[in-house]
Amino acid sequence: MSSAELSQTLCVDGRRLWQSLEQMGELGATPTGGVRRLALSREDKLARDMFVSLCRASGYAVRIDALGNIYARRPGRDESLAPVTTGSHLDSQPVAGKYDGPYGVLAGLEALRSLDQHGVSTRRPIELIVWTNEEGARFQPVCMSSAAVAGVFPVQQALDAQDADGVCVGDALQTIGYAGPHDPVCPAMHCYIEAHIEQGPVLEREGLSIGAVEGVIGIESYEVTLTGQAAHIGTTPMSYRRDALAGAARIIHAVRQLGQAYEPAGRASCSSIQVLPNVRSVIAQQAKLTADCRHENNAQLQAMHGQLRELFTRIAEEEGLALQLDHIWTVPPTHFAPRCVEAVRAASAKWGYGVRKMYSGAAHDAMHIARIAPTGMIFIPCKDGVSHNEAELITPEDAAAGANVLLHTLVALANGD
Ligand SMILES: [Zn+2]
Repeated sequence: MSSAELSQTLCVDGRRLWQSLEQMGELGATPTGGVRRLALSREDKLARDMFVSLCRASGYAVRIDALGNIYARRPGRDESLAPVTTGSHLDSQPVAGKYDGPYGVLAGLEALRSLDQHGVSTRRPIELIVWTNEEGARFQPVCMSSAAVAGVFPVQQALDAQDADGVCVGDALQTIGYAGPHDPVCPAMHCYIEAHIEQGPVLEREGLSIGAVEGVIGIESYEVTLTGQAAHIGTTPMSYRRDALAGAARIIHAVRQLGQAYEPAGRASCSSIQVLPNVRSVIAQQAKLTADCRHENNAQLQAMHGQLRELFTRIAEEEGLALQLDHIWTVPPTHFAPRCVEAVRAASAKWGYGVRKMYSGAAHDAMHIARIAPTGMIFIPCKDGVSHNEAELITPEDAAAGANVLLHTLVALANGD
């Protein structure tokens, strides 16, 4: 089939995709319309079982590695070539919607089934991957197994990670029967394309169907501890106070202004606070804040980072507070492979879908895989930009559009050099 003919006829079955999403959404369903499917839980096992049985029903060979990552393979005409890969995750946050993760997995499955249905072969094999523990809700860190596969940290470190009850990943994998025999370290990949819901409001606001994701924004993250002096709020004149909560309030305000100064790409936030003694009649002795700044451009990120540190120091000094800064996380921006981004954009344009390039504000497995293979992502809109929330919602039309773009991107990459 020529590429012109392919673009006319090769499309996904949107109804079948939607049915599979609904079916997956029943596994770990909550009474209030969401999903609770923590990594390596009973519900995660059910979701994995469903995925594996659908893959086997289509004749795809399934292998499982020592981290429980599942790889389903549709052979290519030349089996000596490294596969084009796609995938996402099936685990969820404790309170979550149905589409964050499963959308990418099931859009990938729909793409493979559509190739079968239309009798289309590809030069390279295509592999569909389910990554273990993307969410980092039960076991830390987030995107655990893609990080281990990409060599960010040793596989054993991931297997040893424990949940709040002291159960480690290795034992949890054994319990649900997904501790596979294969070595997870760096399987050969020609490239990796992940479809995902945007988890933000941009595509919906702009009336677009597809985001051609250029990368993932970088993060500098801090825990800030301000220590002053506990004292009586009635007897201590204003000028004598060393008020940790008042200092924290100034920092919160200044951090927000910092983010606003770097709009639209920059973000800066304080997102949690603990106050001691947290008593109505006592000036706060201590305030502990989490604060971070994010940007897609590393020079801009580092400029924000410098200003963030400066404002912590300046405000603590002006308020007479002791400052302890713990730099807990530094993640440079990830830039995806231009040819993968372009393949996504071109596939969208071929279908006439509204598309824009954009960076992801959230971490994804693709962020780690970009270290070992040319990588891209496809975003589809989600209602009001809401996710990590039971109200998370996508439309069947957008789901099908994203899957069509994934299908044609995979075909282009699997038939290219
Ligand atoms: Zn996700």
